[in-house]
Amino acid sequence: MRRDTEGRAQGRFDAFELADAGGAINGVVNPIELPRLADRLVPPDDASSVRIVWRVTGGHDSVGRPMLTLSLEGTVFLVCQRCLKSFAVPVAQDTALLLARDEAELAVLDEAEPEVILAKLPLDPAMLVEDELLLALPFSPRHDERECAGAGTRRSATEAVQSPFAGLAQLKAGQGSKQ
Ligand SMILES: [Zn+2]
Repeated sequence: MRRDTEGRAQGRFDAFELADAGGAINGVVNPIELPRLADRLVPPDDASSVRIVWRVTGGHDSVGRPMLTLSLEGTVFLVCQRCLKSFAVPVAQDTALLLARDEAELAVLDEAEPEVILAKLPLDPAMLVEDELLLALPFSPRHDERECAGAGTRRSATEAVQSPFAGLAQLKAGQGSKQ
């Protein structure tokens, strides 16, 4: 997959230098402050801060091509599309990113490899984190069934349809209780 790596310019690093040196850099971002995630994420229910700890490690793949490993760890808050309440989603993943020196190399690698980035210019770690979260987060986030307020409502409605006698019993019980 091709990624857009041009744009904002804070804290950029040379990906090929990092890969050759086998070095690593790390930092922390507040995911709510990442522009392309702003409409997908919500602040936590309490006043606690949300953060993603990231680490970029340089190296080479099994055939000697320069690559980065992007590791993310932390928590984000999403809105459940069923009950519209927010819930915490843990983030913990490592992603291998092959490096392309120019557009031509990017086009060749992009055909065959799952994750390729154009790294002819220094890279912005916050943008790598943002790209990765955009790919990793569900488009239609939902609570686990047992924890979702919306799931309980839907289930009881389904039961009423499937079991007319249960509905009749409730109706009779309702009439009885009025007297
Ligand atoms: Zn829910």
